[in-house]
Amino acid sequence: MNIEQQIKAVVRDVNDFPKPGIVFKDITPILRDPKLCDAIAEAYVQRLNGIKIDEVAAIESRGFLFGMMIAHKLLVPFVPIRKKGKLPCKTVQQSYNLEYGEAIIEVHEDGIEAGKNVLIHDDLLATGGTVEAAAKLVEKLGANVAAISFLVELDFLKGRDKLLHHSEHIISLAN
Ligand code: IMP
Repeated sequence: MNIEQQIKAVVRDVNDFPKPGIVFKDITPILRDPKLCDAIAEAYVQRLNGIKIDEVAAIESRGFLFGMMIAHKLLVPFVPIRKKGKLPCKTVQQSYNLEYGEAIIEVHEDGIEAGKNVLIHDDLLATGGTVEAAAKLVEKLGANVAAISFLVELDFLKGRDKLLHHSEHIISLAN
């Protein structure tokens, strides 16, 4: 099985979570398979195909899982992007729209160095609002969104269209 088939074989569809009508992709079974986790991190490195990455910024909380593994493989700094109110030092913030209402994510203002090439990572791309906000944070700090990666892309939601304004390199391992 290739990596996409392996991911699809273990990710679970959970009906009516977190609310009725939603089919939630549960990635936690992947985490029980350390060889698959390593193969996934390696697959990202291969797909980056030599694109220069200086830092990996990942989105709370499931983005941290493979974000940190990719940073470790590339031997570059890992940067946590968190929901408002969780980071202790001075931050820059970005708001974005949810289905109902608004959310804010933030990053330490000294968390990303200006001019650096950043890979943004999250577990899943749905409408693209979350990662688009992360891309704006990276750009606010004067850095460049060199690539964006996901485990799973719900391609029928066309989230990728929002992200192409920020980077042409979008990597998803399954959809
Ligand atoms: P978006 O902003 O609509 O693209 O939603 C993506 C964000 O919501 C990511 O941070 C995901 O972790 C989370 N998310 C949305 N749907 C799912 C799902 O089915 N499984 C896991 N995470 C999801």
